[in-house]
Amino acid sequence: MEFELKKLPYAYDALEPYYDKETLEIHHGKHHAGYVKGLNNATKKLAEARETGDFSLIKHWERESAFHGAGHFFHEMFWESMQPGKEDNKASGDLLEAIEKWFGSWDKFVAQFKAATAAVEGSGWGVLAKCPQGSLHIFAVENHQKSFPPGLRPILLCDVWEHAYYKKWGPDRVSWIESFWKIINWDKVAKRYEKVKTA
Ligand code: MN
Repeated sequence: MEFELKKLPYAYDALEPYYDKETLEIHHGKHHAGYVKGLNNATKKLAEARETGDFSLIKHWERESAFHGAGHFFHEMFWESMQPGKEDNKASGDLLEAIEKWFGSWDKFVAQFKAATAAVEGSGWGVLAKCPQGSLHIFAVENHQKSFPPGLRPILLCDVWEHAYYKKWGPDRVSWIESFWKIINWDKVAKRYEKVKTA
């Protein structure tokens, strides 16, 4: 089975001025494409190892598989977490109620998500996820696959790898997160929440 790089659900310039065309083109066309390629390669190498019975590089290929696989999975979800922006962007309905329940208020949730995402050490993601026990939590995930407890169902992701924002914002990660906040597709996030609510 070959993994594929899907087209974005919008044009490269559709998220302007909040997310610029050039960064988005490189992010999707080079970086996400790289994860797909790496995942396909690791998958092939693991199949070869099963075929030959030579598992001497198993640690390497398992790590490659986890790294590129998680990168591919997160980016697919990330692209669909965004839409053309608006200044007063906010969740609504059941999702808003759940956020208020688990974080105390919308404003407290926003403050925690932004702070956690800004504070990710090195490359990583800010993640809003449903835990197996049913509650919503925010996680600072390193790379794509570290500090990611099993059983989590992510519903919103913010990419804070340097490749996601450096071209436009340089080291000012906080400005990227502020911009990202305007282009979150809350309808999509709410649909994910509905899907995992009882799962
Ligand atoms: Mn990325």
